[in-house]
Parts: sequence; C-alpha cells; structure tokens
Amino acid sequence: VSNMPKLNSRLSETYNHTLAQITPARIRSFSLKISDVPDLISLNVGEPGFNTPEHIKKAAIESIKENKSHYSPQPGWMELRETISRYVKKRLNLDYDAATEVVVTDGATEALSSTFLATINDGDKVIVPMPAYPAYVSVIEMAHGEVVSIDTSADAFKLTAEKLEETLKANPDAKSIILNYPTNPTGVEYTEDEIKALAKVLDEYGLLVISDEIYAELTYEMPHTSIAQYLPESTILINGVSKSHAMTGWRLGYITGPAEVIKNVNKVHGYLVTSPSNPAQYAALEALDNGCDDSKPMLVKYRERRDLVTEALRKVGFDVISPDGAFYIFAKMPNKFNETSEEFALRLAREAHVGVTPGDAFGESGQGYVRISYAADLDNIKEAMKRITKFVNEN
Ligand code: PLP
Repeated sequence: VSNMPKLNSRLSETYNHTLAQITPARIRSFSLKISDVPDLISLNVGEPGFNTPEHIKKAAIESIKENKSHYSPQPGWMELRETISRYVKKRLNLDYDAATEVVVTDGATEALSSTFLATINDGDKVIVPMPAYPAYVSVIEMAHGEVVSIDTSADAFKLTAEKLEETLKANPDAKSIILNYPTNPTGVEYTEDEIKALAKVLDEYGLLVISDEIYAELTYEMPHTSIAQYLPESTILINGVSKSHAMTGWRLGYITGPAEVIKNVNKVHGYLVTSPSNPAQYAALEALDNGCDDSKPMLVKYRERRDLVTEALRKVGFDVISPDGAFYIFAKMPNKFNETSEEFALRLAREAHVGVTPGDAFGESGQGYVRISYAADLDNIKEAMKRITKFVNEN
C-alpha cells in the first residue's frame, strides 16, 4: 500500500542512530537469536525468580470483585499516592505531597519515559553513566536529547564525583543526569558518602537528577541511600513494585519529586497511558502498606545465589566484582577468549546451552563482559555454573 504509514521519523532516527545499538531491542534480538537452543538455561532476563506474594494477589482480586473497574484519576488513586508518600517517608525520611508530588505509572519504564519526554528539549544534554539500562539512551534520543556518556569501567563501575565534575566542566550546558543504583547491569550500589559527594557536584552545576532506584529494596551489605535525600528540590525519584515485590507483569511504578516538574511529567503520563490499571494499583497499595518485608526472604535467596555464581565464575577466570545489590553479575570474560561479548554469548548458548546477555548491550564500555542474572531458580543456576565451567575449561 503506497500510503501505508512509515515508522515515525523521530523513532526511526532513534533506531538508526549508532547509540541505539544499546536498546532493549538489542537484548530482545539476542534472546531471539538463542531462542531455538534446546534445554537452554536462561540467565539473560531481568525477572525476579519468585511469584507475587499471596496477600498482594488477594488484594487485586478483591478490588475486581468490588467493581473497582472505573478510570482512576490520572496520577493514580489518591489512596495509593498517600501510601507511596508514607512509604517513601518511612524508607528515606522524605516528604512528598500525595496530591502534587506523586504520580503512579505503568511500571518504572513509563515513569522513565514520561520523565524524559517531559524534561528534555531538543538538543538538551543528558549525562548517562555507562554501562546503563538500555532504555535510557533510547528514550533520551526519542526526545531528541543528546546523550553524554561517562564510562565507569575504570572505577569499578561507579560514577565518581571527580569523573562527574570533569564531564560537567567539559559540558557546562548539561541539563540533567540519569542515575541508577543498585545498578543494572553491574549490581553496584553507592555508599552514603559517595552519594553525598555526587550530590555536592550536581548541586553546584544545578542539574535535574533523575534517579532510577527500582532495585532499592534489593541491597545486600549496605542500606540504600537516595540522592533525593540530599537534593530533594532537584531530584525526580523513580521506583516501583516490579523488583521489590516480584511484580514485573503487573506494570506498576511511581514517580516522586518537586511539584513543578511533577506537573509536567503528569501531562505526558496522561497522554501516554491515561492512568495505570486498577488491579495493579490495588495490589501495589497492599504491597506498600502491608508488604514492606516481602523482599527480605527473596534477598536471602538472591544473596546465596550471588555468592554461588561469583565463586563459580571466579574459579574459571572471570573477573567479577561482587555485586552489592539487584540480581545481576557483570563478569569480564576470561582473557583467553579473544572474541566479542556477543560472539562469546552466542557460543555459550549454542555449545553450553546457557543464555547470558552480551555486555555491550549496555553500552560500548561493556564490551568484553557478559551480564548474568542470578534471579533464576537455584538448581538451574547450579547446573548453569557447571556448564559454564566445562565450556571455559574446554575452550
Ligand atoms: N529500570 C531499571 C534499571 C531496570 O532494570 C528495569 C527493568 O529491568 C526497569 C527500570 C523497568 O522496570 P519496570 O518493570 O517497573 O518497568
């Protein structure tokens, strides 16, 4: 059909841009490439290895029975926004007004998209520490922002205040920064002192901070500090129940931040999704009101799996920084493998039947690494480590 609509030119530009090589599509296309491998153990997905707790499911079912089937207000049910406000107060001692400073979204993904689309003007520079969750670059480019990446690989994958300052000196017109910690794909978490040091520099340069803290409940050795605790007036805090309560499929996230930014974010959010789904909102209400400790037993299991994977990988020559949070290990391939991350991951899938994600899917600084998600079932993880050990020893 001659006048069949083509892909929107903004999107098509995003997809054709070189940086768009690090899109979620790249992770999906790699998964597709290995999907025909029989008996594959998939350690390449960012999925909690647990089901949603029963009390949360029950709350959603009750809400359906009670005919909570009408549109909710655009920023989400007030009751839920109040719960979110109380929850953030309890966790981080931060005050957000439920009426003007909280928006409930379709997962952290929509929270990020609405925030980027609402805050980026054509050509605005956005700082992105790399390696990073791939959606950041895609949406920044979709909004016609300019990505200024900072390679963190030389600093154990942590953005240092020095590197940040150096970058801001070279880019004094930068408008915002996206931070994510605990970090996907590296599992890195920042100490309170490190957050304080970053906040000092960001304050000096007056940047808007978008802080994706979706893994905040999943930290092992240290408590989670939010940059919003130091920069409440300039931070947009993004979180949700996907990872903390094993609710990825429910699609429920939230944004808290200063009212004047939230007002604009809410406009974009309204056009994108109108409002989040009702059963998910009632489930989240229960999760955040009565499920504050739901992640604790999961954390014990994740930690056991993390230690097992770290030890097994180190034994065969991977260079691994033991992660402080989330459920990912970013491992440097043993030196003897003289191939790209993708070539290595493809062979690992085809020859050893273990699926991992090539590190450069998270940015060029991840070349030479693979990301392993250890949220999978323990028996599968043990078997996968046996297969990886055999593969490395025989190659
Ligand atoms: N942010 C990061 C860093 C993630 O790793 C993910 C999912 O993997 C998301 C956001 C998306 O979260 P949600 O499922 O709530 O949209």
